[in-house]
This record gives sequence, structure tokens and C-alpha cells, in this order.
Amino acid sequence: MRKPDAGPGSLCDHKSVNEKLAHEIALLKRVQFAKRSEQFSPDQASLLDDLIDTDIAAIEAELEALQPAPVEAKVRQQPKRAPLPPQFPRTLIHHEPDSSHCQCGCALKRIGEDASEKLDYTPGVFTVERHIRGKWACEQ
Ligand SMILES: [Zn+2]
Repeated sequence: MRKPDAGPGSLCDHKSVNEKLAHEIALLKRVQFAKRSEQFSPDQASLLDDLIDTDIAAIEAELEALQPAPVEAKVRQQPKRAPLPPQFPRTLIHHEPDSSHCQCGCALKRIGEDASEKLDYTPGVFTVERHIRGKWACEQ
């Protein structure tokens, strides 16, 4: 959704990142709540605890980093997001450029890919969206 009164570019970007992170926090809180109200095996429950804690910490660090003009340099290390449990079903989402033609006229070469995973939850079912972004480079 686009708001007509959204500010200039950079503010706008920050805002959408904020919204994305807020959405992730909401999802994690939902997971947290589900963990209390649904039955998970002790293993699965402790796994979820770890996942939720590190994810929330990481998201909060990301939000903090977005604040304009931080008062002091950050000393503490940014928590790393925990890898999502391998047993959750994955949906693969590929992101590739529309065209593999470079502006210089050469054909871009696919030199690798980046993958990121996003936890999703509907009551009773955890799934993971695995986003795969191809990395393309100019040959010149
Ligand atoms: Zn090129």
C-alpha cells in the first residue's frame, strides 16, 4: 500500500523498512503466542524460543540502526539471526532480473546467488519462504 503523503525518497524507504520489520515483529509475537497455546514437543518449543529471541533481537537492532542520527556509536554486537529450522517446509521464491542484458551491451553473467529466509506461520503450520536472488555481473 502506498500512502500519497509519503515523504521524499530516503524517508520513504526507511518507512517501508520500518513497516516490514514491524510486520516481522507482529508475526514473531504471533508465533510466541501460538507456542503457548498450541502443543509443541519440548524440542520444537525450545527451538522456537531461540528462534524468536534472536529474531526479535535482530529486528530490534535493525530498527535501532534505522533511527536518524544515533546518539552514540553502537558498541554491542548486532545479534545474528538464527537459521530457520530445516524441517519447516520451504517455498522457493526466485528473484532474477527481467533481462540479462547489460547497459553496456554485453550479456550479464550469473555469478552466484544470495538466499534469505523468512518465517511464516499460519495456525499450526510453520513454513519458510526462501528468497533466492541471482547475482549478475557485467563481463566487461
Ligand atoms: Zn556489461
